[in-house]
Amino acid sequence: MPKPSSRMSGILPSGKDGWEVHFAAMTRKQAGEPIIMLSVGDHDFDTPTETIEACVKAVRSGYHHYTQLPGIPRLRAAMAAISTRCTGVETNADQVIATPGGQLALYAAVQGTLDKGDHAIVVAPYYATYPGTFRAAEADFTVVEASADDGFQPRAEAIAAALKPNTKAVLINTPNNPTGAVYSRQSLEGIADLCIRHDLWLLSDEVYWTLAGEHHVSPRALPGMAERTLVINSMSKSHGMTGWRIGWLTGPEAMIGLLVSLNLVTTYGLTDFVSRAAVEALENDYGVSEIADTYNGRRKVFLDAIHGLNDITVRGSEGGMYVMLDVRAIEPDDEKFAWALLDAEKIGAMPGSSFGDAAAGHIRISLCQPDDVLLDAANRLRRFASSYR
Ligand code: PLP
Repeated sequence: MPKPSSRMSGILPSGKDGWEVHFAAMTRKQAGEPIIMLSVGDHDFDTPTETIEACVKAVRSGYHHYTQLPGIPRLRAAMAAISTRCTGVETNADQVIATPGGQLALYAAVQGTLDKGDHAIVVAPYYATYPGTFRAAEADFTVVEASADDGFQPRAEAIAAALKPNTKAVLINTPNNPTGAVYSRQSLEGIADLCIRHDLWLLSDEVYWTLAGEHHVSPRALPGMAERTLVINSMSKSHGMTGWRIGWLTGPEAMIGLLVSLNLVTTYGLTDFVSRAAVEALENDYGVSEIADTYNGRRKVFLDAIHGLNDITVRGSEGGMYVMLDVRAIEPDDEKFAWALLDAEKIGAMPGSSFGDAAAGHIRISLCQPDDVLLDAANRLRRFASSYR
């Protein structure tokens, strides 16, 4: 075949993305081994019935056509109402653009703020697709580690030290994947101050906000930040709709207006019947409090069950779908730990180093299993910790 663009091989340069343990666990499970999968961030339950019914009704009612590029008006209005709640800033429909999933909202935020060769700062530990999203824009980026010893809270001084003359944006994620850290107002104020002083965009990924209760703080609400913050949001986690691919970006009206052209050349708008179901789910909060209660309950069950395990320290783990365990006292090489845990106790967990150096020596446990399975996993982990040498 003719030569592909170099941009494609640049998105994931090594071809290795840290998911090897996860894929091995999945293969072994499919082959019949009693593996507990704690490596994946997808719900173990279905989308709420009311949302499914709304979609079926929309399909039967003939909603099969192209939709407006930034989203149908009722959907944008419903998303704006949620953004008002999520960020604490009054938001109107012209300040949001609907996208197929939070990932496309993130892609739009990066494409909208960075030119080829511009520089961004990404706070780590980070969600695995972040580096590739910057590479797809041919932008340069520096990873700034939020340290485990700070509970994975980001430090503005560390971000300031990584600034370059061509830095245009900072990307953060709260509540955080993989650490479960919920960034404090104080941490965010430091970052906001920096963004204002250096005229930077702040790209704020808040897709897990409903899983942090009242602890969630959006930097968009801080003084002077609404005009320079783009908030990535999604129905995947909050509304139990990972496979539906629906999310949105919130920001200044002028930026959102520009991004409509990106929807034109990428998605050409959202799926019609999915949009209609999403309106119902957003307007009625279908599943939101049940899902939040489920994960908050599971986090407590798991953390209580491993409490007192001397060699394992919990870091972050205040909100979202994951907990982060510091296993350095047992085995500093987290990949080695994760493989050994899979072999000995049949638990699939993600090595922390897959998410950046700050999480090296940690493993990420996903709470996407019912309480009894999490308790079983905690027991297996306890046995593993006492016998590993
Ligand atoms: N941001 C973070 C931090 C995530 O963990 C995910 C998915 O796991 C996404 C964005 C993308 O979510 P989606 O594209 O399903 O909305």
